[in-house]
Amino acid sequence: MKSHYQAVVIGGGVVGCSVLYHLARAGWTDVLLIERSELTSGSSWHAAGGFHTLNGDPNVAKLQAYTVQLYKELEELSGQSCSLHLTGGVMLADSPERMDFLRLAHAKGRYLGMDTELITPSEAKAMFPLMDESNFVGAMWDPVEGHLDPSGTTHAYAKAARKLGAEIELRNRVVELTQAPDGTWTIVTENGSIAAAHVVNCGGLWAREVGRMAGLELPILAMEHMYLLTEAMPEVEEFNARTGREMVGVLDFKGEIYTRQERNGILLGTYEKDCRPWSPVETPWSFGHELLAPDLDRIAPSLEIGFRHFPGIANTGIKQVINGPFTFAPDGNPLVGPVQGLTNYWVACGVMAGFSQGGGVGLALSNWMVHGDPGFDVWGMDVTRFGEWASLRYTNAKVRENYSRRFSIRFPNEELPAARPAQTTPLYDIMVGQNAVMGDSWGLETPLWFAPKGSEPKDVVSYHRSNDFEHVGNEVRATRDGVGVTEIANFAKYAVTGPGTEAWLNHLMTNRMPKAGRIVLTPMLNERGKLIGDFTIAKASEDRFLIWGSSAAQKYHMRWFERHLPTDGSVRIHRYDQTLVGLSIAGPKSQALLAKLVDEDVSSSAFRFMDFREMAVGGAPCMVNRITYTGDLGYEIWMEPAYQRLVYRAIKEAGAEFGIVDFGMRALLSMRLEKNFPTWYRELRPIYGPFEGGMERFVKLDKNDFIGREAAAREKAEGPKLRRVSLVVDAVDADVMGDEPIWAKVNGSDFGTVGKTHEFGAPRFDAEGKDTRTSQASHGASSVRGLRDGDWAVVGWVTSGGYAHYVEKSLAQGYVPTELADDEADGLFEIEILGHRRPARINREPLFDPTGEKMRG
Ligand SMILES: Cc1cc2nc3c(=O)[nH]c(=O)nc-3n(C[C@H](O)[C@H](O)[C@H](O)COP(=O)(O)OP(=O)(O)OC[C@H]3O[C@@H](n4cnc5c(N)ncnc54)[C@H](O)[C@@H]3O)c2cc1C
Repeated sequence: MKSHYQAVVIGGGVVGCSVLYHLARAGWTDVLLIERSELTSGSSWHAAGGFHTLNGDPNVAKLQAYTVQLYKELEELSGQSCSLHLTGGVMLADSPERMDFLRLAHAKGRYLGMDTELITPSEAKAMFPLMDESNFVGAMWDPVEGHLDPSGTTHAYAKAARKLGAEIELRNRVVELTQAPDGTWTIVTENGSIAAAHVVNCGGLWAREVGRMAGLELPILAMEHMYLLTEAMPEVEEFNARTGREMVGVLDFKGEIYTRQERNGILLGTYEKDCRPWSPVETPWSFGHELLAPDLDRIAPSLEIGFRHFPGIANTGIKQVINGPFTFAPDGNPLVGPVQGLTNYWVACGVMAGFSQGGGVGLALSNWMVHGDPGFDVWGMDVTRFGEWASLRYTNAKVRENYSRRFSIRFPNEELPAARPAQTTPLYDIMVGQNAVMGDSWGLETPLWFAPKGSEPKDVVSYHRSNDFEHVGNEVRATRDGVGVTEIANFAKYAVTGPGTEAWLNHLMTNRMPKAGRIVLTPMLNERGKLIGDFTIAKASEDRFLIWGSSAAQKYHMRWFERHLPTDGSVRIHRYDQTLVGLSIAGPKSQALLAKLVDEDVSSSAFRFMDFREMAVGGAPCMVNRITYTGDLGYEIWMEPAYQRLVYRAIKEAGAEFGIVDFGMRALLSMRLEKNFPTWYRELRPIYGPFEGGMERFVKLDKNDFIGREAAAREKAEGPKLRRVSLVVDAVDADVMGDEPIWAKVNGSDFGTVGKTHEFGAPRFDAEGKDTRTSQASHGASSVRGLRDGDWAVVGWVTSGGYAHYVEKSLAQGYVPTELADDEADGLFEIEILGHRRPARINREPLFDPTGEKMRG
């Protein structure tokens, strides 16, 4: 152990070892991993070792696919076996709703290049004869699933890292972290202190404690988790002998269980409803290579279903029950990246599926540390996706909810109840009193839609159009024909001040900054020229600008802003969070309404489209933007929370003569669709360039040098490969939800933008359960099954959509190859909704107010 390193990784579980390996592979060999005991001494050693590619977030799924592909390379490099068993896996649906879920997952898999297949229960039984197929209506087969040896795999990362020059120090605990004014970290260990430029928290079960050493409260909680191992089973041995291969892994949503072959018996694990957090406040340092006491009573309901569904297992003796803790973030995805507010403090923790995700986490984090960018769209894992509201108790409630629902269906219109309300605006009780169905928007209660008086304000959860359809439609029509008001406190808001502000914003943003009293819309790019933000910016005065952006990306953007702030103090940035709240009024009568609320001229010539003004509204000091996301004539009005009730009441009273209605987020999102407006993190994400995203109007390559300009200029010169499009879909009773594949009639052309399959060959089984293709775990071959169908091919994907109530059309936005993006012909596209391919047509002009006449007023 030296006295100084480029980076110190704390924790030698599978994640820490993967980070160490990837740092060394990226060229940072002056790196040290410190482990308080032996490698795998947290949760890694007792894992069931299962791995899979599927994930609700396609970008996380890609990183999981990378992890699985990495194992062969790792074995070769390290000389250490991971005991890889690429068996493939089956997910079993017991109900039509679950089958819809599998259809969606299968459709999503198409454009990710995954080789999933929908199969019948009998086909599933051929691969896993222990099941009773009469319990199921269908299944999905995924060839890229299997299991490995957790300890061997962790050591393979470690050995490979060492071979590349990285160091590992065992049996030495990090006890304290301090940072000098020049940014150097001092890592105080039981065996002395070390200096390092970067610290990485891979503390796993102790990640919270390692966070607290730097003043952080990371939203992670460990949960107890049980799996059991059966005695040897003659049925398993017979199957192995007959087919020459192992049984596949099986996931039974109804029973909340997963199962696979382990030696000549079965391993069966549960995600039980009656779950238990472990060490909810502090993880004891004394916890070693230990297991927790099994509690079979708690998992009995799952086992009961499991034994009914898999009678082959019911009569077998249980050899061992493993109960061990491992950590989760509130949404079940990892926490990765640099922490906002600290320099060179990195985390890679809350990794609940270390053997599916560890490789991808290591790759993304090492890219970030070495090259300044993760190289992928890692929003789904970014540590900044949780705000200050994700406290210890919030995390406890959410993690328990997430664990107990791990195998439950999450419907697209479903709001989960745990840890709510976390934050409320002063209008909360008024909105609830008006029968609002509330949603969680980055920890803030926000009205989604208003249920009729006397009815229960509740969504009927569904993949299809539901009980909100008619009422959201009414809100949209009343707004578009008259005037509506909605809360917009859930937007992100920032003030930037100081003499260097305008030059700084010009350096960060792609658009020219506005004149005083004016507003611009502008994307923000990273160095690679990819979209990392989309903002509304107003110039209030010479040295003061206001910025509005995506609520969920507040900390993500603050991290970027802080990283690029000048060190001379000439620019200061303030995130308002809920210290600034807002209301939006929109519709043709909104101007007449505003005129009643203010004492100045707000006619279209005096207060123009894209103007900004500070004025009293209903007697309260406010900032007003003449712009709305509805794309209609309208205004955003911003005020301190103490004034929000006053302004709202004034709006409602003055609006009564115009028949004002309240509308919620769902109506707002429906209205933006018919204007072809994109949304952040759906249409606009760090995987797209600004020209691909259709943002060319807001990119001024000739204004001055700005971050990402060179790459953006290249994208423009070469021409974007993809383009964001809006499509009208011939939907029946279900609209797109996002992530559906877009099919096109390509007549043999190869657009090559999707369907890049993983490196794995896909086993195919016959009715006997024999693999008719190659030996399992073979690599190298690839298959594009499912991406072509005669003249049709999957060419793109949907990013978001829904029903546009005013124009009465089902709309989708998504990305297709540029060659196809301008063709508005009928019969060219289809979008797969819940397993049915529905005709779709590109519409280039917004269906509502295409010339922008109404919006300009
Ligand atoms: C019963 C069970 C079954 C599971 N099954 C699966 C499965 O099938 N598939 C799957 O992918 N995942 C599974 N998991 C989850 C998997 O174990 C975790 O995702 C994985 O272990 C997380 O690894 P980690 O490196 O983040 O954390 P850990 O394994 O907890 O490693 C953290 C390490 O950091 C060290 N450390 C902490 N603080 C310090 C300090 N201050 N100084 C020095 N060292 C420190 C610890 O000693 C420890 O070795 C299972 C977990 C359990 C409990």
